[in-house]
Amino acid sequence: MMQEVVLPEILAGRLKEIYQGLQDEYDRVARELHFSCNGCPDNCCDSYFLHHTYTEWAFLWIGFRRLDANRQDTLLSRSRTWLEECEKALAVGGRPQVMCPLNENGLCGLYEHRLLVCRTHGVPARMKRPDGHELRFPGCFRCQEIVAVDYLDKQPPHVERTPLLHSLAALENQLLGGKRHLLPKVRITIAEMLVKGPPALPAGHEGRNTEP
Ligand code: SF4
Ligand code: SF4
Repeated sequence: MMQEVVLPEILAGRLKEIYQGLQDEYDRVARELHFSCNGCPDNCCDSYFLHHTYTEWAFLWIGFRRLDANRQDTLLSRSRTWLEECEKALAVGGRPQVMCPLNENGLCGLYEHRLLVCRTHGVPARMKRPDGHELRFPGCFRCQEIVAVDYLDKQPPHVERTPLLHSLAALENQLLGGKRHLLPKVRITIAEMLVKGPPALPAGHEGRNTEP
C-alpha cells in the first residue's frame, strides 16, 4: 500500500526560506547586471526541466490543492496534453520545448509554489557537484547578451547554487526520515507531478522527522 508523503508546515517553512535565499541572490546578481525580464519577447517556461525532490513535489501539491476543482481539472487536462507533446519530441530524440501547463498568458498559475529551477533560470549561476566538478550556467540568451558586452574580460556576478542545493538535500533527507538514499529517486516534470498525484511511498517508508 502506498502512503502520501506530506510536507509538514515546519518543513514547508524551511523550503520557503531556501526559496527566499535564492530570490535574494538572484536579485543581487540581476541588480549588478542591470538585468530584468521586463519586455522579454521570450518566455522560458517552455524549457524542459526535471525536478528531483519529494519535498518540492509535495509543496507543489499544497498549492494545487488550494485551487478550486474546475481550475484543478483544467491544469490536469493541460498537463496530460503537455506530456503527450513532450513524448512525441522525446520519441524522435529531441529536447521538448512546450509551454508549461501552469503558464497562462505568461504568468505562472502556481507562482508561490513554483519550483527551485523555475526560480533560478535567467542569471549566471554555478554549482559544485559532489565529485567536486563545477558546473557553470551562463544565464538565458538575454542575460548572455548583457554579459557579452559588459563583462568581455571579467567574470560576471553569479548565483552560487551549491549551498542552496545542500540545504534542499538536507531538508529532503529530513522529510524522508533520514532514508533518502534508500528510496526511489525522483526525476520528474511538473506535469507528471500533477498527473501522478501527490508523492507517495510504500507504507512504512514515508517516515519523516520534523524535529528542528
Ligand atoms: S511552474 Fe510556473 S514558473 Fe515554473 S515553468 Fe511552469 S509556469 Fe513557469
Ligand atoms: S529569464 Fe531571460 S528568457 Fe526568461 S523571461 Fe527572463 S529575460 Fe526572458
